[in-house]
Amino acid sequence: MEKMPEKLAQLVHEVDQEIAPKFQEIDEQILYNQEKVLDAFRAEEVAEADLQGTNGYGDDDTGRDKLDRIYARVFHTEAAVVRPQFVSGTHTLFTALLGNLQAGDTLTYLTGMPYDTMQEVIGLTDKKQGTLAQYGVKFAHVPLTEAGLVDYDEAKKVLERDQPKIVAIQRSRGYATRKTFTVAQIKEMIAFVKQVSPKSLVFIDNCYGEFSEKHEPTEYGADFMAGSLIKNAGGGIAKTGGYVVGKKELIENTKIALTAPGCSDEGATLANQWDFYEGFFLSPNVTGMAEKGMIFAAALFEKMGMDVTPKWNETRSDVIETIIFNDPKKMQAFVKEVQKYSPVDSFVNPEAYHMPGYEDKVIMAAGNFVSGSTIEFSADGPIRPPYAVYMQGGLTYAHDKIAIINAVKDIFFNDQEK
Ligand SMILES: *Cc1c(COP(=O)(O)O)cnc(C)c1O
Repeated sequence: MEKMPEKLAQLVHEVDQEIAPKFQEIDEQILYNQEKVLDAFRAEEVAEADLQGTNGYGDDDTGRDKLDRIYARVFHTEAAVVRPQFVSGTHTLFTALLGNLQAGDTLTYLTGMPYDTMQEVIGLTDKKQGTLAQYGVKFAHVPLTEAGLVDYDEAKKVLERDQPKIVAIQRSRGYATRKTFTVAQIKEMIAFVKQVSPKSLVFIDNCYGEFSEKHEPTEYGADFMAGSLIKNAGGGIAKTGGYVVGKKELIENTKIALTAPGCSDEGATLANQWDFYEGFFLSPNVTGMAEKGMIFAAALFEKMGMDVTPKWNETRSDVIETIIFNDPKKMQAFVKEVQKYSPVDSFVNPEAYHMPGYEDKVIMAAGNFVSGSTIEFSADGPIRPPYAVYMQGGLTYAHDKIAIINAVKDIFFNDQEK
């Protein structure tokens, strides 16, 4: 790397040594998850022809059907639907919910208020058109405790009162300062729901979570779960799409909601299958690299006395690192630096703006190969206290490291001797 101020070089050296044992754990996790995916590919006997994709109605798309089964194997579910017709994570989650809720049903979030874009989908903002609320779905949520944990006492009351059709658990923090829930915590939540409200279906928003641990929430009784392919599961290769995995009937309902009754096995895969297969194959490694980048960042910022979450040695269950700047200027400067050290559009200067689906102004660094992808190195955050930046680890650990060191150098070490 280019020369850094001596003090920074010393910090980086200390960080490298400190985090080495944690990297060994990540390597072990990559090995485990890679084997899981490889075994599924081998069991389904993926052939070159499966990668080609179909056009028109997409009938007899054996590659699509095989990929669905591969996802089902990897996530330990009866069925899966992996499609380029899902336009985003929000759309994927919405479709899974819409397909499995009817007028009068209640959807209850166990993990506090849902992710910003999901609030709009549910009908919690001013715009009601097309929302779950407009379809007659009722919504409730159990606020988290002050420590950011599930309030089980309150949840028991709410679940017994409402008998919700679906209880949703959001794994990743999204734009909240709470912690991401680990799979061990989610396992506990699922067991709780099954005990208190056995008829409720448990749904997991798994966005950002895939392969960030060895096990997935569907291994512990979640009924269905969804995520985006321009996050972890697409491995940085998928250009669009989403997936839903779960019980057969719930997946069929999702497929109908995505298409139409009688059309649920249609949908051309076009030129996407190559990317979907290769991306899913690479995902365990890419996710591990992203976690390494965030571990490095956490350790460095912690050493500089800043508040980060998770801490470098905490169990991770997604690829996000939150850095609390408590300062709108430094926060925005950091996001601009991330853009500056991106492979695409490095010369662009990001500005805060009102992004559709988000309540506050948001500033985003997006120097990506796939627009909006968050399995590529990126950083963003809403302009509101505590001026937190949500940084997502990138395709290669080396890139994350180079960018983070340069950002820190430019923002915090620019007055010192070079
Ligand atoms: C990213 C994300 C979503 C929405 O995905 P988009 O692709 O941005 O629409 C939903 N929930 C969580 C927790 C997320 O991280």
